[in-house]
Amino acid sequence: MNAEINAEESATGTAPEVVPSESVRTEYLDLADRVRTYRFAYYQEDSPVVSDAEFDELFRRLEELEALHPELVSNDSPTQEVGGEVSAAFAAVDHLQRMYSLEDVFSLGELQAWIAKAEAGVAKIGGSNPPPAWLTELKIDGLAVNLLYRDGKLIRAATRGDGTTGEDITHNVLTIKEIPQLLTGTGFPAEMEIRGEVFIPSQAFAEFNEALVDAGKAPLANPRNAAAGSLRQKDPAETAKRPLRMFVHGIGAREGLETASQSESYALLKEWGLPISPYFQVLATPEQVIEFISNHGDKRHSLLHEIDGIVVKIDDFATQRALGYTSRVPRWAVAYKYPPEEVHTKLLEIAVNVGRTGRVTPYGIMEPVKVAGSTVEMATLHNQDVVKAKGVMIGDIVILRKAGDVIPEIVGPVLALRELQHPAVRAFVMPTQCPSCGTPLAPAKDGDIDIRCPNSRSCPAQLSQRVAHLAGRGAFDIEALGDEAAFALTQPAEPEIPPLTTEALLFDLVPEDLEAVRIRREKRSKGVGTGEFELVPYFFSKATAKAPSKPTSNTDKLFKELEKAKSQPLWRVLVALSIRHVGPRASRAMATAFGTMDAIRQASEEQLAGVDGVGPTIAAALTEWFTEDWHRDIVDSWAAAGVRMADEQDASAPRTLEGLTIVVTGSLPNFSRDEAKEAILIRGGKAAGSVSKNTSYVVAGESAGTKLDKAEQLGIPVLDEDGFRELLVAGPAGPAGHAEPSDTDGDSE
Ligand code: NAD
Repeated sequence: MNAEINAEESATGTAPEVVPSESVRTEYLDLADRVRTYRFAYYQEDSPVVSDAEFDELFRRLEELEALHPELVSNDSPTQEVGGEVSAAFAAVDHLQRMYSLEDVFSLGELQAWIAKAEAGVAKIGGSNPPPAWLTELKIDGLAVNLLYRDGKLIRAATRGDGTTGEDITHNVLTIKEIPQLLTGTGFPAEMEIRGEVFIPSQAFAEFNEALVDAGKAPLANPRNAAAGSLRQKDPAETAKRPLRMFVHGIGAREGLETASQSESYALLKEWGLPISPYFQVLATPEQVIEFISNHGDKRHSLLHEIDGIVVKIDDFATQRALGYTSRVPRWAVAYKYPPEEVHTKLLEIAVNVGRTGRVTPYGIMEPVKVAGSTVEMATLHNQDVVKAKGVMIGDIVILRKAGDVIPEIVGPVLALRELQHPAVRAFVMPTQCPSCGTPLAPAKDGDIDIRCPNSRSCPAQLSQRVAHLAGRGAFDIEALGDEAAFALTQPAEPEIPPLTTEALLFDLVPEDLEAVRIRREKRSKGVGTGEFELVPYFFSKATAKAPSKPTSNTDKLFKELEKAKSQPLWRVLVALSIRHVGPRASRAMATAFGTMDAIRQASEEQLAGVDGVGPTIAAALTEWFTEDWHRDIVDSWAAAGVRMADEQDASAPRTLEGLTIVVTGSLPNFSRDEAKEAILIRGGKAAGSVSKNTSYVVAGESAGTKLDKAEQLGIPVLDEDGFRELLVAGPAGPAGHAEPSDTDGDSE
């Protein structure tokens, strides 16, 4: 902290007083100026230039400096005012009673301290015995509006402005159907101010933005700015097009309103037709308040509207009155703010990534920034149309959002900053050639938005991602073959021809193949990158005068794991092949149904599609995949290297079901669906998912549905569990009392 002790005073023996140094004064004035500028952009222009989180941090620092140096505080300090002035575009109107902002807290610890302070304040004024009840509400991310009703008629609506004077937006508010122009019922005061938040519901916001993008316009950055911008339109017809709603959360002037608490008055307001939030609760203890905060934090993105926190108010009006207000905020309410999910950062570059299937995806590289608990420096931009729709340019300050566990998203540019401070931006141009192999890029078929590198066989980028994929946990599970190792094995750096030019050769690798593999690495000095690069051996240690190069422990591990991978079950081998749409579920289903890679390869598209959990899209992708020579080479080379291409059969089981296709449907008392299928497969039968004329038997358990109907229609023999057991033991001769198997050609369907 830049401060000096006042030497004169301390010499007299009185308590040392900290006076602000020149640099603190400069920091303070600069900070106050920035806060004012940012408030102007936020309230007057509905176009913030910094994120709320950044603003909150600056505001806190201002408060901190003022707490340390009270003499810095002047009447026009931003901490003494409610943010927002009246724009010249609207008529200024005075509120009958002042509108306030809210004190913010940013952690549960701070909230508990605030509650303790409020309780002490209540005790001091001799109030609330028992302790106060806490009216706990959602902090709606919208725009504060003050409605003035006279004799039940809405006569004026205004923005909060500076708290004393707001902007007259009556014409615009009249377009919001939810706000009654005439109150219903009786008993309302002759004059009453109702405060609330106008907002755009999340779903409506998403749809509105979609329509803007479809019309070739830039989407709105977030629901709060969209609501504020909508309400501050000059033409009410424009406001009427926006999906605005309102929830009321406070009362200003209220001559003659006889209620004891805020929650009680909400019930009355509801009776009079005013929109009350369905989410508020009156809670007895601070623990319940914290539980409310945690519950709503978990589901904050599935609520009707966006929230940026929770507002906690002392419910009792008499206590509210006794505690009163500072110049900016009530002493009886506080806003708990959730960790920020939206921040601003600089978009340094837009690069493209070539994926496993050749899809070329632009992504943003940003100055690293912390958002929703993690540091983010990259975010996908999906395709060139998305880049265009978002309107982002390289060099822009962008809004980055990471809501909960959701993948980080670049929302759009801060346009005001582009014009003011960052003129040096450039547009992104989608490359026309693959950045990895130079092949001309093209959409897979006419009309596709995504463009692809068609060189799937030998594009190093695609190959590297396929190799990393086949080593993944859900495939061969080769831990030593992560993204970086896959990259080193497949990229032409050193040696110029890398050891893997196709994944077919993976299991033929020998340690010597890896000796020459080098990877480009940034040189570091004292742990920090120097910006210079060098080629370093990846799989082997560096040879020195004393010791020749030898495989690293990770390289040994790689070969051990490759050996182990050869006996992985069939479904994992299928996943490892990177066939479009073929994931673990479909692979398991096919492995169970067919048992061997050969059987899958020879199966017709129709037969594949008939397997439970496969379907026509997967079947078509699989059949098409096997039409490529180099694809079949992968399977053949792996098989030749010893990769297991069939699931182990139980040799002790008699091959009683050879040539039969059996469909199991409904639930059997003593077999799970998988056990029944397994029992069929190990006896040489085929387990199919749907009934056709080629089905030999249908085994029907309880709640068997349409498959049973179809079997009856086609005259296919139907077995219960006992019949099934007999079939397993003795084949078609087994199930007594049942018809002969239907006439099949032996193929499963
Ligand atoms: P605030 O938004 O933190 O809290 C006060 C407001 O909350 C009230 O005026 C009211 O309109 C609203 N509110 C929502 N739900 C409510 C409820 N249930 N009960 C009571 N009030 C409720 O305070 P503020 O002074 O309006 O704005 C400050 C905040 O605005 C900052 O913390 C920052 O997040 C944002 N801001 C951002 C920028 C920027 O440049 N990004 C600039 C200025 C302000």
